[in-house]
Amino acid sequence: MLNNLYVSLRSLVRTPVNCLLNQFDPPVIVLIYHRVTTLASDPDLLAVTPDNFRQQMRYLKDNISLVRFEDDWAKSTKPAVCITFDDGYADNALEALPILEEVGVPATFFVSTGTIGTRKEFWWNELERIIMEGQNLPSGFPLNDGRLVKMWPTGTNGERRECYHEIVRVIKNVDPEQRQDRLIQLRHWAGTEEELTDTHRAMTVDELRLLAKSGWVTIGAHTVTHTRLSSLPPADQAEEIAASKKQLEAWLGSDIRVFSYPFGRRCDYTKETEALCRNTGFTKAAANFAGQVHRWTDPFQVPRHLVRNWPMEVFADKIKGFWTV
Ligand SMILES: [Zn+2]
Repeated sequence: MLNNLYVSLRSLVRTPVNCLLNQFDPPVIVLIYHRVTTLASDPDLLAVTPDNFRQQMRYLKDNISLVRFEDDWAKSTKPAVCITFDDGYADNALEALPILEEVGVPATFFVSTGTIGTRKEFWWNELERIIMEGQNLPSGFPLNDGRLVKMWPTGTNGERRECYHEIVRVIKNVDPEQRQDRLIQLRHWAGTEEELTDTHRAMTVDELRLLAKSGWVTIGAHTVTHTRLSSLPPADQAEEIAASKKQLEAWLGSDIRVFSYPFGRRCDYTKETEALCRNTGFTKAAANFAGQVHRWTDPFQVPRHLVRNWPMEVFADKIKGFWTV
């Protein structure tokens, strides 16, 4: 009860304060997308259909200033929106790019280099395929983390969904070698192999080059293996950050100056991670928690708002709401 009262009072105060702040210093709202495509199953709600994406882009183009992630936003004299994508799925080049070019909207794509050109799934997509879509699975998955074995029931769809989200949580906290060990256990349990995929693959190098060539596109780095950086020692973090930059620069022949943290919540990177990004030559880094960008915002913790597969009316309401959050 008191808690509810506190929340109501806080939002009553926050809205006028934000309105004042917004007049004094027009904010930039950064949006984060992952995929533009139509999927049969999308448990993490990462895909926006091409139709909804086109309508979302048209709404922004018609109503709001659009800025690029690498721009100096301190010079911005009116509120603006910036579009970003994380991970490097093939649909970014095949389905999102034509719409961005058709409507005329700039976007920055943060790419994890380790899966580019492999036709392999990202690890969370492999988990989803095995746990959510696997046929004739045993009734429980016993994960051995080297110290103890934990069993997750997988008899019903609800149990499988819970198992999927739990294993994602567990695997987020381990390094790439341990992650590979857990995936091998899972494949062995399900009697399946690592598969090549068309629906969940990352871009090929040619697709990445096609994307990068567009005048509407900026490419940024997003580590090599998409590991939670706060779970790694500093030397491994440094390698993930620098190697992804170097590889993108070798493929594209241009400087890579912006970065986004895998997963991107405040607990997914550390002060050391921010310093490493600065020292590696990045000028800005994107996080993944909600908020507006003002002149005083830390350029190495740029907040972003996740976009879901919202139809235009919902999207327009959400965008209006982002000015007061
Ligand atoms: Zn990511």
